[in-house]
Amino acid sequence: MSPDHRRRRFVGNAALLSAAALTTPRFVRAAGPDETAAPSGTAPFAARAALVPIDARADRIVEINVCTRPFRAAGPRIEIERIAGRTVVHNYGHGGAGWSLSWGSAAIAIGLVRAAPGARIAVIGCGAIGLTSALTAQRAGYRVRIYTRERPPNVRSSGASGVWSPDSRICTLDGATPAFALRWEAMARRSFHIYQNLLGLPGDPVEWRDGYVLSDLPLDRSAPREDGEPPYPSLQADRLRDLDPRSQTLSAAEHPFPVPYVRRYTQMVFNLSAYTRLLVDDFLRAGGEIVTRGFDHPREFRSLPETTVVNATGYGARALFDDESIVPVRGQTARLVPQPAVTYGISYRGHDLSVVPRRDGILVQAQAEGDFGNADTTPDRRASEDAVARLAALFPGVR
Ligand SMILES: Cc1cc2nc3c(=O)[nH]c(=O)nc-3n(C[C@H](O)[C@H](O)[C@H](O)COP(=O)(O)OP(=O)(O)OC[C@H]3O[C@@H](n4cnc5c(N)ncnc54)[C@H](O)[C@@H]3O)c2cc1C
Repeated sequence: MSPDHRRRRFVGNAALLSAAALTTPRFVRAAGPDETAAPSGTAPFAARAALVPIDARADRIVEINVCTRPFRAAGPRIEIERIAGRTVVHNYGHGGAGWSLSWGSAAIAIGLVRAAPGARIAVIGCGAIGLTSALTAQRAGYRVRIYTRERPPNVRSSGASGVWSPDSRICTLDGATPAFALRWEAMARRSFHIYQNLLGLPGDPVEWRDGYVLSDLPLDRSAPREDGEPPYPSLQADRLRDLDPRSQTLSAAEHPFPVPYVRRYTQMVFNLSAYTRLLVDDFLRAGGEIVTRGFDHPREFRSLPETTVVNATGYGARALFDDESIVPVRGQTARLVPQPAVTYGISYRGHDLSVVPRRDGILVQAQAEGDFGNADTTPDRRASEDAVARLAALFPGVR
């Protein structure tokens, strides 16, 4: 984006912000005590800009997506196997963390490939894992063809929330063995590093955004879970403390939300439309080819000209390889009309509500009871409308 363009966008946002400040005083955040405590003789530094309220109305829902996270109790399967005369490198089962771990997972998978430099290899799948595996293989010097039943945006990856969530539903407590935790950390760190090199590009495929954890209970207390999901390990908090910016507890004077307990966090967001397009374009520009083809049985790999096959079929691996270790975890997201001036996310604890301020729309996710083990991808519009109504209640007096 050119400096001129950036300046114009800032001016536009500033105008919107001051309009919002006039009409919705609750959302003009007062300065916190430490922000006003400037040394004598020094003007206090300006408080953070007021928050623009989200226009949360059901008639602004422009898209509803349902997809299933490919959850495995033992974590993703990244290993090599001989099938139908082909060397198959599996790379599937990334639960709710596929985008976040994709680059690191691809590095491990492609590291297992033993083909000669310059050889042709096949990647099955064109979601987050297939695309990053294909690009990583190209960068390692292989010529790559992707075979896939669906292409973006019709893959499950396109229905994700699009945030850095490297330990989200990645394994069970038992699955988090010391060996797995080490491998997971290596994947997460490698991915994080690559993502920092995708910041500031045209279309903002990746960016950092603020967000607010809202809670009716003190933030160190959480309500018991009733969603039928197993407890998950907190690998991110335990092992990646040095990567993410620290969150801050806010006093009532420091936020506009009508809830008693609030923390502000800063989080990496993947703008999936722009980011996926970038991955596909980079792959094609480097000589990659995408072939539309579905496989009903692994023995069909025998018909491929490539002798090494990377299996990045995600939830599809359950049927293709008869792998019942993959458990579907249903997730539904709705997108509201984009509001460029809304640059913050929300996670409302105990209310099954999370919001991501993506460029391609304000993403509203509502996790429901019974999603674990549920492979039904029929959209439930009512559930998204209810989530949008819960969101609207956070902006009282805003019409
Ligand atoms: C609601 C929701 C929110 C999420 N939010 C996040 C998030 O914020 N951050 C994050 O990191 N992760 C998130 N995830 C998880 C993430 O979306 C997944 O881990 C990731 O999409 C898995 O990617 P994949 O490439 O393995 O699978 P997919 O996207 O399902 O891709 C599989 C590919 O394989 C192809 N394929 C499958 N079977 C066959 C076959 N038999 N023959 C040929 N081709 C086949 C498909 O057509 C497709 O191209 C979320 C998931 C959900 C459901």
